[in-house]
Amino acid sequence: MASLIRLHEGICRCTACPLACSRHHAVPGAGPVSARAMLVGEAPGREEDELGLPFVGRSGRFLEMVLAAIGRTRAEFFITSSVKCRPPRNRQPRPGELETCNSLWLSKQVALIRPKLIVCLGRVSAQTFLGTVDLRTQHGTVIIKDRQAYFITYHPAAGMRFPKIREAMIADFSALDRILQKKQS
Ligand code: SF4
Repeated sequence: MASLIRLHEGICRCTACPLACSRHHAVPGAGPVSARAMLVGEAPGREEDELGLPFVGRSGRFLEMVLAAIGRTRAEFFITSSVKCRPPRNRQPRPGELETCNSLWLSKQVALIRPKLIVCLGRVSAQTFLGTVDLRTQHGTVIIKDRQAYFITYHPAAGMRFPKIREAMIADFSALDRILQKKQS
């Protein structure tokens, strides 16, 4: 736990990429260090940037709703994002920003938490870990890379906006629940 706290203090002071200039607060992530699964999104939004906490805005409420549908809560996951600082005007993080933040911070969070499963919320997260991913055909599936298991699904912001993606996410999370049950047994 102490190592994770030190890591998060480092994230809050980090100025290694241009996103440091546009943030109010870095958003390291939250959840138990003993979490068996990590949920990894794209980047903090406005509310996350204001509070320094992950998934606390509308996307976060949608995520909580999808988790509740499978009888789970966010408290059992470690939740973070691919970059820890909000991009200006919510633009997508750039490849260099993703690379820097992953090598400095995200990969170290994964090494400390050692999750049985990393849930990639959306294309940017999936590409950060896995390179090229086709969400349309690969959502709801597990991919193993370097002995780490990744579960692919959509970003809650997309689920909120598009009814078909919302349906797909609900089905994905049912599959996720079954996978987590197997990993717990
Ligand atoms: S996004 Fe990541 S690498 Fe860039 S300044 Fe924030 S913490 Fe540092």
